[in-house]
Amino acid sequence: MELPGGLLVDNQIRRDFSFKPMTGFIERAIAESGLEASGLPQQVTSILTTSLNKVAGLAVNRELVLSLSSGDRLFLMLQLEASIKPEIKWMTASCQHCKELIQFQYKPGSMPVKLAGENFPRGPLSLSFADVSIRVPNGSDEEYIAQMGTQASSTMEHLLARLLNEPDFSADIHSLTNQDKELIDNTLDLMAAQPGESVSISCPFCSHQQQIFIDNYAWINTETDNIDEEVHTLASQYHWSENDILSLSRNRRKCYLQLIEKSQNTSQTENKFQSSGSL
Ligand SMILES: [Zn+2]
Repeated sequence: MELPGGLLVDNQIRRDFSFKPMTGFIERAIAESGLEASGLPQQVTSILTTSLNKVAGLAVNRELVLSLSSGDRLFLMLQLEASIKPEIKWMTASCQHCKELIQFQYKPGSMPVKLAGENFPRGPLSLSFADVSIRVPNGSDEEYIAQMGTQASSTMEHLLARLLNEPDFSADIHSLTNQDKELIDNTLDLMAAQPGESVSISCPFCSHQQQIFIDNYAWINTETDNIDEEVHTLASQYHWSENDILSLSRNRRKCYLQLIEKSQNTSQTENKFQSSGSL
């Protein structure tokens, strides 16, 4: 599998990436990623820095994850979700027309993905007052904007100043006409890689066709919050150290947990049998 955008290395786009094998250590780091982060973009940076092995042949660190385009970062988060929990999920949403509750299925990592366009990650742009270049937003931009915490209109101006200015252009963002802004929007849409964030559903009650937005980050908490309990169960049963348990692959850990559950069920059944036999 390849990134929909990629990294520019020696003037060539490279799209290869790999995750580390999923162990309890990584899952715990994901579960605790929200404690230190000041916002979702910072949390995503921390999760991807912990979980990725290589991108574009390069060892992964925080700077590399920050330099990935926003589309690639979202794509990687969706792939990570799929590697942790590949099973189809049932989801519910309220119909946008008749308000009835709709149930639908969603398979993690299965969303259609728009690949990056020509000139990714930076391309030329002819504005009304100058010829400039513009690049797609990346992790640094996401973190910068999240930390600003200001109103939406000025946030957009700050973001545009970052995307347009580097490295050779210092535009007065206020001189952008509406036509310029529309051109910027369209250029970025064409250039950026973008995983789908909504599914198209027809309501079974009123047949209204609608796009339902999927929360692509909900899994960060829901799929990793049992890790301490699981470590406790395995440690109590097998007397292994915490380090040994967290080093296990996710699949292996789940396998041992199933064996414990199975043997507990068997002994419960035996106890029932014995107590009913003694009556
Ligand atoms: Zn409906």
